[in-house]
Amino acid sequence: MDFSTDLLIIGGGVVGCALAREMSRYRLSAVLLERAGDVAEGASKANSGIIHAGFDAVPGSLKAKYNVEGARMLPALCEALGVPWRRNGALVIGFSEEERAVLAELLERGRRNGVEGLRILERDEVLALEPNLNPEVCCALEAPTGAIVSPYELTFALADDAALNGVDFRLDTAVRRISRREDGTFRVETNRGDWTCRAVVNCAGASAAELHNQLSPRKLENVPRRGQYYLLDRPETLPFQHTVFQCPSRMGKGVLVTPTVHGNVLLGPSAEDIDDPLDTATTQDGLDFVLSRARRTWPAVSTRSNITNFSGIRAHESGDDFVVGPTEGCPHAWEAVGIESPGLSSAPAIARALAEQIAAELSLEEKAERVPFRAPSVPFRDLSPEARAAAVKADPRQGVVVCRCEVVTEAEIREAIRRPVGARSIDAVKRRTRAGMGRCQGGFCSPRVAAILAEELGLPLTEITKNGGESFLLTGTLREEAERSVRE
Ligand SMILES: Cc1cc2nc3c(=O)[nH]c(=O)nc-3n(C[C@H](O)[C@H](O)[C@H](O)COP(=O)(O)OP(=O)(O)OC[C@H]3O[C@@H](n4cnc5c(N)ncnc54)[C@H](O)[C@@H]3O)c2cc1C
Repeated sequence: MDFSTDLLIIGGGVVGCALAREMSRYRLSAVLLERAGDVAEGASKANSGIIHAGFDAVPGSLKAKYNVEGARMLPALCEALGVPWRRNGALVIGFSEEERAVLAELLERGRRNGVEGLRILERDEVLALEPNLNPEVCCALEAPTGAIVSPYELTFALADDAALNGVDFRLDTAVRRISRREDGTFRVETNRGDWTCRAVVNCAGASAAELHNQLSPRKLENVPRRGQYYLLDRPETLPFQHTVFQCPSRMGKGVLVTPTVHGNVLLGPSAEDIDDPLDTATTQDGLDFVLSRARRTWPAVSTRSNITNFSGIRAHESGDDFVVGPTEGCPHAWEAVGIESPGLSSAPAIARALAEQIAAELSLEEKAERVPFRAPSVPFRDLSPEARAAAVKADPRQGVVVCRCEVVTEAEIREAIRRPVGARSIDAVKRRTRAGMGRCQGGFCSPRVAAILAEELGLPLTEITKNGGESFLLTGTLREEAERSVRE
């Protein structure tokens, strides 16, 4: 089957979705193609969730420019979209005079990048701020503008806002080949038919260099760099308020210990160069490395409260900087390649810059009006008893708690499925509502979530997946029995 549109965006990570939202301001037909069964299935779901202040990137690099601009845009964007975020500040800790010199260098870099409020703290000040830190710490760089955000909830809200304003999201659609025709239009071949478009934007994360190389004479090389994590259950009292980094290395910002916006504690990531950009396995070696490094920050860390481990793949480009803008040698193609950390922090600024370039080049007109999207920002679990009672009165399905660990109600799950780019799998519901994010990791609520998904999507239970593709919940004799009962 053949389709056509003005603009194709390839990749539904935070960058592609932020761009889709920016483009929905203009009068044109825009379609986003995403290989996975949901948006935020690449690096945008598996990262540290830090809005970096911007002291780490080399002054003058695109990483520095977009990090600082993006970090300034994110608070207002999160507020407008109902996305959880918190300004908790960051500390980079030092254990020696050599590391103090590294911190002084980071301070200088940060000042040159335009980061405000940076200062070096001495041991007593650091321990007064964070008493659970290793007492051997001797100093720290404090970055009060550092913050935390839910990266996948940000991506979902950007996608919902874009879809509400006319961008067409095509999931389970993998781009296989792109070529530019003689008439200047593009032919984009996918597993679900071919597209013709006037302009194309490559936001394909760890696969972006491969697509770039199909269009441009200047070749780029992507090195998938995996980062593994421990996620700890929500403690009664958070051991750290700040995001605590150690001194960075050639491979990245190092292992951090941070609270998440939902009150969990995250340890990681490792940094290993691998061959397969889709290999998100966790390994004993990788996790042991994370734990040993985290112990240097937090000697009392215990894995007894570990509820899950995961990994994400950084889209490291050999040039060691973001490649953002028009694709060299290919008019009407744009790209965001090599978007590794601080890509989450930079996404709004990258998207704004690309949208402005595209709008100018294609002479696009802005729409007179947009419909703003806002996610339900106060979940049922955070309501006061009075507000909960009122919510149940208004919708009795708010009174049916499906996920007991995280207190997620049936009404919230149905709302997540009904959003403009709604949940289609157990994991998609989990990331939108937190049903299954708690201590039991969905052991109790998954069957109930599956039943709600089947009802809302009008599908048999046998078609409901954990995470798209062939990850059916019912397999083997269970599946055969369910199919037989439907036939009978
Ligand atoms: C371990 C780790 C920790 C990080 N921590 C932070 C942090 O704390 N702060 C920060 O600012 N940044 C951080 N980052 C970086 C940040 O996560 C990424 O820069 C950002 O998520 C990249 O977004 P993206 O949209 O470019 O890519 P992705 O989120 O990877 O999205 C690309 C999308 O394209 C799709 N796709 C790929 N190929 C095709 C195709 N052929 N056809 C259709 N679709 C395709 C993929 O399925 C994917 O959904 C971290 C990254 C990692 C891996």
